[in-house]
Amino acid sequence: MRKARVTLLAMAALLCATPAAAVTPDRLFQPVGVWPAVGAALLRAWDALPAPPATWRAALLPAAAVGEPGRGRLVYGIPLTPSEGIYIRNPGEVWTTTEVIAALREAARLVRVRHPGGFDLVVGDIAMRGGGGFRPHKTHQTGLDADLRYYQTGIEPGDYSYHFVTEANFDTPRVWALLQALIEIDAADRIFMDVRHQRRLFQYATGELGLSRDDLYPILSYPHGGSRKDALVRHVRGHHNHLHVRFRAPLAHAVGALFTIDEAVTAQRELDLEELGRFDHVVRRGDTLGAIASLHAVDLGELRRWNHLGKRSILRPGKVIVVRRGSGGADDETMIP
Ligand SMILES: [Zn+2]
Repeated sequence: MRKARVTLLAMAALLCATPAAAVTPDRLFQPVGVWPAVGAALLRAWDALPAPPATWRAALLPAAAVGEPGRGRLVYGIPLTPSEGIYIRNPGEVWTTTEVIAALREAARLVRVRHPGGFDLVVGDIAMRGGGGFRPHKTHQTGLDADLRYYQTGIEPGDYSYHFVTEANFDTPRVWALLQALIEIDAADRIFMDVRHQRRLFQYATGELGLSRDDLYPILSYPHGGSRKDALVRHVRGHHNHLHVRFRAPLAHAVGALFTIDEAVTAQRELDLEELGRFDHVVRRGDTLGAIASLHAVDLGELRRWNHLGKRSILRPGKVIVVRRGSGGADDETMIP
């Protein structure tokens, strides 16, 4: 967050150089040479301030998408919560940002308005609290990727169980309405959908809706090769039974640019320790317990104890290592008379 502080100082410096400052009487200005010293003093004073609790920062800063969908984090994310028109399949795995939540709710509402019948938008995985990798996904790491169920015919509105998608039960008008809604609210950066479903949408749009091939060119990569990258909807294997939307979230990206991945981990860890009393480190390939201890600035022995691990325990990728607030070590105890 030092970057943020430097940005603030730069903005203050810029303000001093505005026309408003230029018309102030000359005697208010110090010789130019004094300003770098004032700047440095301000920066030192700022750094000396006690850090505000992480919960304050989380309340003040919007959720931040840090890094790439396939290697990133979500800082100060919020969970999608149940609302009219949305069904959440895995409540623990829908951490995201306000922009994504607003877009999902509005898209679900528009589909229900245009095609009454009470069908909810069924939301699968988005991201874990704090983002990062989780199985079986390669992306979904920054809170901006969401898996959605295709609308299906032949089932009751309240039926959220799993149904294999077939040609016969693919609800083309509603899936088209969802796509149209996402386009209208300019919410999607890209959408992954099996080319066979793209063909169904293409035939529906050119047939019943009377759209032209040119109209559809920027929307569907079908028929010009199912995975054309300049179309919004692309074919990526594994998207026959659910579609995947990567949301545009300018605010989350802007705040995310203030953090490196390591700073993101630290910021979320401080919040989790305050709010939950624990932080879950998900083991990645190449992690060692020693490296995890030093990354989170805790004692290796304590880390072993919290996780009931012996010296020979093997860390497998995907395993959760619990990090708690350290006891501060023996130094504190020796201070007690
Ligand atoms: Zn996905």
